[in-house]
Amino acid sequence: MRAHADASGLDDAVIVNTCAVTGEAVRQAKQTIRKIRREKPSARVIVTGCAAQIDPHRFSKMDEVDHVIGNDDKMQRTTFLNLVNTSAEPIMVTDIMTVHETAAPLIDGFGARSRAFVQVQNGCDHRCTFCIIPYGRGPARSVPAGVVVDQITRLVEAGYREVVLTGVDLTSYGVDLPGKATLGQLTQQILRHVPNLERLRLSSIDQVEADQYLYDAIADDDRLMPHFHLSMQAGDDMILKRMKRRHLRSDAIAFCDRVRSLRPDVVFGADLIAGFPTETDEMFENTERLIEECGLTYLHVFPFSPREGTPAARMPQLERRVIKARAERLRARGEARVGKFMESQVGADRQVLMERQDLGRTEHFAEVHVAGIDKLDERTIGSVQQVHVTASRDGHLIGEVAA
Ligand code: SF4
Repeated sequence: MRAHADASGLDDAVIVNTCAVTGEAVRQAKQTIRKIRREKPSARVIVTGCAAQIDPHRFSKMDEVDHVIGNDDKMQRTTFLNLVNTSAEPIMVTDIMTVHETAAPLIDGFGARSRAFVQVQNGCDHRCTFCIIPYGRGPARSVPAGVVVDQITRLVEAGYREVVLTGVDLTSYGVDLPGKATLGQLTQQILRHVPNLERLRLSSIDQVEADQYLYDAIADDDRLMPHFHLSMQAGDDMILKRMKRRHLRSDAIAFCDRVRSLRPDVVFGADLIAGFPTETDEMFENTERLIEECGLTYLHVFPFSPREGTPAARMPQLERRVIKARAERLRARGEARVGKFMESQVGADRQVLMERQDLGRTEHFAEVHVAGIDKLDERTIGSVQQVHVTASRDGHLIGEVAA
């Protein structure tokens, strides 16, 4: 967006890219827009992202907003050329359900960031009952493997050591492509055709969509980092069914066991929703137990909040205090699991990708505060350092550059 805006000569403008995943995210977006208007009274305020795509009028009727542009429109140069024109329409939002092309991800503009994110997939054809995302992102669509490989090659040539593949429903990669390539095949192709890529990560995976190619990549190539974030959501079969997820708790456990047998040091993260409608104490306890049974470490816990227009919003809701208490219980378990994992790392030597001059992440995505680095040397950011882990504290590691 920044590249399109610059090339079109759009200046004195602020683009707000909104999120719609929770009601709270939308509330915060509106708050941010008001703040920007107060701070920059003369700037044009342009709102885009999922919340704008789903409900453009909610934003266009705010006095602070000049234009609302859709999720597909924001990737098109023509939208920005139109915006330069002072008589541009206040709302430029294409029906996302009709969009079947994925704009090739833009790889310029990563600045000094240490790892590159490459969006290989967008949209989702599933309809989990709690989720509003498909209405913001549209149908599942993928970037052809050749384009992805070319982009990653360029990023590696530009100095990036680690690439993260991202997507809304990443493991459905390829369903729309001729030949129906899979995420596992794409992963193998990247590792094969970009031999100088040091570290590859997958942002989030849905275990039922993993295939033999992915398992083989996990087993055979340790450039695929031993850290997987799973879209798990719950550990009770009835709740999973009411969520319209496509896996059972036994599938989640089997997946983690299988991956662990291929890469014994693997670390899992997972998204979990606390207090989904109709969740009883017993159902919640099944989710709690799943953390141990799968051996999860990093938990992203979401207290359930109903999204207008989704089936779950029409189901019998739990009291807020119950939802909050359950979320707290899951978070406390998550913190204990992280603490235990960090303790297990003390004494190890790790390859750490530096995000700041004194902070980076290990192969397992553990945050390490690193001593012994020349803090004035900008080149540290983005480098990989061998770090000896000396201690663990408050959910992170402390280490020093190995001699
Ligand atoms: S698979 Fe993910 S993005 Fe798609 S509907 Fe379900 S939760 Fe939402």
